[in-house]
Amino acid sequence: MEDCLFCKILAGEIPASLVHESESTLAFRDISPKAPVHVLIIPKAHYANVAELGAADPALAGEVLAAVDAVVQKEGIRDAFRVVFNTGPSMGQSVFHVHAHVLGGGTAGFGAV
Ligand code: 5GP
Ligand code: ZN
Repeated sequence: MEDCLFCKILAGEIPASLVHESESTLAFRDISPKAPVHVLIIPKAHYANVAELGAADPALAGEVLAAVDAVVQKEGIRDAFRVVFNTGPSMGQSVFHVHAHVLGGGTAGFGAV
């Protein structure tokens, strides 16, 4: 989608530090990490938020969760992590291509991102 930051990362137009890629998802490090491990996971198809993704393509939503497992294994945080989908500007969403924040590492609980 035009003017979508994460579609531009998918297209290779904006560089990102990749952590994991599957046929339908991409995971890369957040440019402004709020935890020792802060990875964003996106479906390659553009949906504005997690509700739209779940409604339109539940199987793809499942692929995003499978990517969570791959990322937490790679990052060594499978026993303790948090997954956040901010939805709507008032809840902190600033990029309108659905993304899971995977937060972990260290000892803090990590709240809003
Ligand atoms: P949101 O605020 O929509 O929940 O999350 C968007 C996230 O994208 C933020 O945590 C922000 O730091 C991250 N972000 C913004 N621009 C870029 C970028 O160009 N590259 C990467 N890797 N992350 C970005
Ligand atoms: Zn997009």
